[in-house]
Amino acid sequence: MPTIVETKQTDTQIAKDYVNRVYEAVIKRNPNESEFHQAVKEIFDSLVPVFEKHPKYMENGILERISEPERMITFRVPWVDDQGKVQVNRGFRVQFNSNIGPYKGGLRFHPSVNASIIKFLGFEQIFKNSLTGQPIGGGKGGSDFDPKGKSDGEVMRFTQSFMTELAKHIGPDVDVPAGDIGVGAREIGYMFGQYKRLRGGYEAGILTGKGVGYGGSLTRTEATGYGTVYFVEEMLKDKGLSFDGSTVVVSGSGNVSIYAIEKATQLGAKVVACSDSNGYIYDKNGINLETVKRLKEVERKRISEYVAEHPEAEYHEGCAGIWLIPCDIALPCATQNEIDEASAKVLVNNGVKAVGEGANMPSTLEAIDIFHENNVLFGPAKAVNAGGVAVSALEMAQNSMRLSWTFEEVDAKLQEIMTNIYRNSVNAAAEYGHPDNLVVGANIAGFLKVADAMMVQGVI
Ligand code: GLU
Repeated sequence: MPTIVETKQTDTQIAKDYVNRVYEAVIKRNPNESEFHQAVKEIFDSLVPVFEKHPKYMENGILERISEPERMITFRVPWVDDQGKVQVNRGFRVQFNSNIGPYKGGLRFHPSVNASIIKFLGFEQIFKNSLTGQPIGGGKGGSDFDPKGKSDGEVMRFTQSFMTELAKHIGPDVDVPAGDIGVGAREIGYMFGQYKRLRGGYEAGILTGKGVGYGGSLTRTEATGYGTVYFVEEMLKDKGLSFDGSTVVVSGSGNVSIYAIEKATQLGAKVVACSDSNGYIYDKNGINLETVKRLKEVERKRISEYVAEHPEAEYHEGCAGIWLIPCDIALPCATQNEIDEASAKVLVNNGVKAVGEGANMPSTLEAIDIFHENNVLFGPAKAVNAGGVAVSALEMAQNSMRLSWTFEEVDAKLQEIMTNIYRNSVNAAAEYGHPDNLVVGANIAGFLKVADAMMVQGVI
């Protein structure tokens, strides 16, 4: 007769073997897609306790299905530059999972965009969107187009060409894109105009992140950054800490960073640094957000220009150096894998108490291990930055009802959503035997809702 302990080990081993088998198949089917592999590994590893406790999820091919996109669309995007020369970029849209709602997720315009990046983002989006409690499935898209240094006319011609192809695959009940890196109010405006023209009707819910004057939601601009800070504040509160009086480093200087800086400052923190892809600024007195907003949102300039107006601040070339600055709270809000093992060790040695991921997958798997081993409070991206897409879902709701909520109404809903995500993640982590591990908690909580929908909708 096997002892209880032996039986338990066997269950764990069965679950681990299953997860490893499916992971190997993912690697084999998607060779050379390291970012996608990383995102899948993080999720899969944290789901072992679920399969151990509920073997039924292993019998339905849930993992095999959830890690294969329902659809991956790749298309040519030809456009003419200001010199009259024909340029060609590649467009993508991954429609990853639609069991709990229409595909939902942003579009990224950045030279690094390829199938691996789009698939990692789309895969993450499934679980993030589920965590929001809103009825939205997972999708993502973009292009290797680089908006940096392009004129407004070039950006318009490119986005119109991009939308001409994308329009064949989206719809307010099918797939609803939004912004991400390189896609802000300007790009959404051009894409909305082109879609409207092609469609011959006003389908407000086709895109989110629209201008407030033509169907956008108040608070959407602020939502990802504010939501990041709301989540981290919950995490801190549980340990008797808060933003008030703390020193904070926020990487990036785009939409997520700017509003994370704004909310952290409102809560009494001093944000001493931010960055762009060239380098970072350190202002020991606290960053002047109005200058950053003007440089980045209006003038589209480099962050190095900040020191011309604030000579007391320092500019340093190279963005990774930002993690050398001692801080209580680190909010990586720039891009994937910006905190590696070495940077995580420096942060720990400098006494960081909490890390909240405003960007998508900004910490490597090794960096996350360092934070966990050193008892740093760690909020994973798909929970922490879910406020953006959550308010996108609220934008879709307002579009369907043909009405608009006030800033205060949407902000209150956002706060409630972020608190719920935090609570659900904490509870799932405890229930599945990993108390305080929000990576495991968020992944499990996000997964279960989608898996349950997949179970009852048949093998599709
Ligand atoms: N790109 C954002 C994200 O990573 C927002 C997506 C959306 O609003 O659909 O979640």
